[in-house]
Amino acid sequence: MLKVDNVTKVYKVGTFGGRTMTAVDTVSFDVRPGEVVSLIGESGSGKSTIGKMILGLTPVTSGSITVDGVPIQPGKDYYRTVQGVFQDPFSCYNPVFKADRVFALIKESYYPSVPDAEWTERVRSAIQDVRLNPDEVLGKFPHQLSGGQLQRLLIARALLLDLKLLIADEITSMLDASTRIDVLNLLAELKARGLGVLYVTHDLSLGHYLAERTVVLRRGTIVEMGLTSKVFDDP
Ligand code: ADP
Ligand code: ADP
Repeated sequence: MLKVDNVTKVYKVGTFGGRTMTAVDTVSFDVRPGEVVSLIGESGSGKSTIGKMILGLTPVTSGSITVDGVPIQPGKDYYRTVQGVFQDPFSCYNPVFKADRVFALIKESYYPSVPDAEWTERVRSAIQDVRLNPDEVLGKFPHQLSGGQLQRLLIARALLLDLKLLIADEITSMLDASTRIDVLNLLAELKARGLGVLYVTHDLSLGHYLAERTVVLRRGTIVEMGLTSKVFDDP
């Protein structure tokens, strides 16, 4: 479903002198429907850059990224196909904070063809799916929620959008242990519903039980890739 094919990303560094740095170097991998693939590597290895290219937040320098054969074309439709949930749900860049109340945030994913009453019902049921109480959260402002609640809401929004692929970039690193387990369990549910998940992390120990395959990145190149059990069994 997701195909990352020979993708390279070169950043220009500094305004003068035309220096460049290759953050991602001829990387290829894929994610199938209903599969969690973890993308691991130390800080600076290029993980976020890959996530951003898949989300269309930054262009590839060369190579191609396709979802079901269609090249990434950021826009309304693409947004319904692929979404990202990031480490810091409270980031000031988070589009969530452009919404006023939680309901408005969820409503952003509105399908015009669905009657209002049915839409409201779908919103409530997606919120219950992530084990939040709709009566409790829908009237609140995003900043009145805990990090774990907001993270779960973003996952609820992903469910409402009928996503194909979720990019989960270090999503558990700011959460406490029990919330973290909740969020990992939710990812397992997304997977059971046939979504593909790219689980990006620097922490080898977390969530790798979810991922059947693991891609290991070092300084922008793939140094190992395969079944998670094999990757972690290797001495
Ligand atoms: P990771 O997510 O694994 O920490 P990143 O993709 O954020 O890695 O970064 C990979 C490399 O690219 C790092 O050396 C980083 O400094 C560099 N980099 C990331 N974003 C930019 C940018 N916008 N401009 C220049 N260099 C960048
Ligand atoms: P960082 O560099 O800290 O990883 P980014 O610049 O990638 O953050 O994104 C900033 C914020 O914008 C993130 O916290 C994320 O919540 C939000 N964001 C950007 N693009 C998307 C998207 N396609 N779907 C959901 N949230 C997004």
